[in-house]
Amino acid sequence: MLQLDSRRYAQTIIEDLLLEGRWQAMQINVAQLLRASIGSVKDYEVKKVIDITGDGVNDLVQGKVRLTRTNRSILVKGALEADVELTCSRCLGPFRRSLKVNLEEEYYPTADVDTGAAIAVPDEPGCFTIDQNHILDLTEAVRQYALLAVPMKPLCRENCAGLCPFCGQNLNRGPCGCPPKAADPRWSELSKLKKEKGK
Ligand SMILES: [Zn+2]
Ligand SMILES: [Zn+2]
Repeated sequence: MLQLDSRRYAQTIIEDLLLEGRWQAMQINVAQLLRASIGSVKDYEVKKVIDITGDGVNDLVQGKVRLTRTNRSILVKGALEADVELTCSRCLGPFRRSLKVNLEEEYYPTADVDTGAAIAVPDEPGCFTIDQNHILDLTEAVRQYALLAVPMKPLCRENCAGLCPFCGQNLNRGPCGCPPKAADPRWSELSKLKKEKGK
């Protein structure tokens, strides 16, 4: 696969979106849906660049979300894909990976859509709310769900060769000058043990 500088890649995405006028915010006005009868549904397509991992690099999120009016909330179900920059746990190099993000969250209104009167929301930590202007913001939920989809030990490729433990060279770019004996520190530990036992 073509390896692109990730910052330039994200920049290209942003330029593309702006040029094509496809920029779709993750803030959705749900006033109409709040007035609709229970079970009413609205579908949206989302495409937005946000920083998912908090590393200052933009990640592209896109896909479909379905909003359903329930008796107490708006239920959001989304099938999204996040194109995220990760750091390889073996060679420490940055790489891009597409993560599937299946979102399902209830968003509670904080204001009555007709009177503007405040509505108490459930006393649950991390509960998502719709603001007083009836804007439902998907950004934080998408960020949290995408983070859950990040592998514990991300690898840039399955057979990533990692870094040389002696000189630190990225072995994916070719062998370093270190003698082959020193290549695996586990063996040197083992031989040390053997020597100690032999005493
Ligand atoms: Zn790697
Ligand atoms: Zn080396």
